[in-house]
Amino acid sequence: MGKKNSKLSAVFIDRDGTIIFDKKYLNSTKQIELYPFVVDSIKKLNDAGFVVIITTNQSGISRGMFTENDLKFINKKIIKLIEEKGAKIDDVCYCPHVDFDKCNCRKPKTGMIDRCVKKFCIDLKKSYAIGDTFRDYFFGLNMGGSGILVLTGHGMKEYNRMINIGIKPIVSRTLESAVNRIIKNNKM
Ligand SMILES: [Mg+2]
Ligand SMILES: [Zn+2]
Repeated sequence: MGKKNSKLSAVFIDRDGTIIFDKKYLNSTKQIELYPFVVDSIKKLNDAGFVVIITTNQSGISRGMFTENDLKFINKKIIKLIEEKGAKIDDVCYCPHVDFDKCNCRKPKTGMIDRCVKKFCIDLKKSYAIGDTFRDYFFGLNMGGSGILVLTGHGMKEYNRMINIGIKPIVSRTLESAVNRIIKNNKM
């Protein structure tokens, strides 16, 4: 064993279809509905020492369906719902663009987390991305860490699509089972 690596591991968690039910282009706090296992799963990550960051593509902004301020308001409400039950979200990163904008932050690109990698001194090789689409899975691989596809939200459809083109992603049924996998992995 070498010198202990002082950098932290992070888990980057997608929002829609992973933490909350995917209501297409959600634009009101009334539409927020957390999956029942979210608070306990995030608590487990907190207790295991992971930095927990929500990473979300929000092309509804570029499409003019809601504003950046609407998004911030909704994200704040989601974090409040989670934190008032005792779990902690360390930060939120989002991309407001569509593919056509050719930004460097829309998942599976990794630009949205650059700020957090510096802020929390994150070792991406020891970090994970969890989400319900191929974008989340490849975001994990592109950052140099691991990706886990969950089968909530668009996950089942995305899984079949990936298998059909010869990609075999690492899969966990929900955020909860993904977190259990990560924590088990981490002990080995
Ligand atoms: Mg999603
Ligand atoms: Zn972007």
